[in-house]
Amino acid sequence: MGALPREFTSELADVIGIYIQCEDCGRKSYWPSFKVRAAERQGFRTVQALGSRFQCHVCEAQGGGGRNVTLRLVLRGQT
Ligand SMILES: [Zn+2]
Repeated sequence: MGALPREFTSELADVIGIYIQCEDCGRKSYWPSFKVRAAERQGFRTVQALGSRFQCHVCEAQGGGGRNVTLRLVLRGQT
């Protein structure tokens, strides 16, 4: 990731949660808002960039990549 202009709007600003589902084993997990905010503080500005952070630890532990995960965003005002 390169440096972004200061005025660049974070795509994550309206994201208040992320559901993660592994397409291989069906395991589901959820990232609450505080984890999204923490990722923002680490410099993540897009879901695509953040996507590299998500993987299935069950499949990974079994020798798979654990990368076949689907993300569903929960946006502010959507609930
Ligand atoms: Zn899995």
